[in-house]
Amino acid sequence: MSLDLKSLVRTIPDYPKKGILFRDITTLIEHPEGFRESVERIADAHRGMDFTHVAGIEARGFIFGAGVAIALGVGFVPVRKRGKLPGQTIGQNYVLEYGVDTIEIHADVLSNVHKVLLVDDLIATGGTAIAAVNLMRRTGAICDNAAFAIDLPELGGAAKLAAENVAVHSLIAFE
Ligand code: IMP
Repeated sequence: MSLDLKSLVRTIPDYPKKGILFRDITTLIEHPEGFRESVERIADAHRGMDFTHVAGIEARGFIFGAGVAIALGVGFVPVRKRGKLPGQTIGQNYVLEYGVDTIEIHADVLSNVHKVLLVDDLIATGGTAIAAVNLMRRTGAICDNAAFAIDLPELGGAAKLAAENVAVHSLIAFE
């Protein structure tokens, strides 16, 4: 496995607003080898670690997370935006640039017998991932590992996760 995954990520300036360089993973996942290798590399880094579930964050975390769950032979937990899950949920608020958002999981899916690998497409400030880790941990589950296709290290999210005792794995970094 030796693909240059970074070269498969497209950068779109001024999306979703002026001044933002959006790292677009659609070009990575449209590339069959790029998509497969991304999923396999995340899975390979977490084999033999007794995970019971992969949790993927809506929406792009579902794409990578589902593949990693299949590769590891474990179940998949969707971490969704508020109001999307049909059953009883538990939620966690997190602060956005303007305002507050909430992520949710089903209340009955995780407990203290479970160990979860969190997966998302990208970590920036870490706000979303830390909320997800806190949500998992509130169920009693172990959530000490997180994996991302892309890390933006200058925004400090991976360091914040490390400070919460979460081991962070990422495939690509954009300074
Ligand atoms: P954070 O909470 O600041 O770490 O932002 C990470 C969340 O925002 C993830 O769920 C990403 O999907 C999304 N995100 C932020 N910036 C980008 C980007 O440049 N490309 C794709 N997703 C992004």
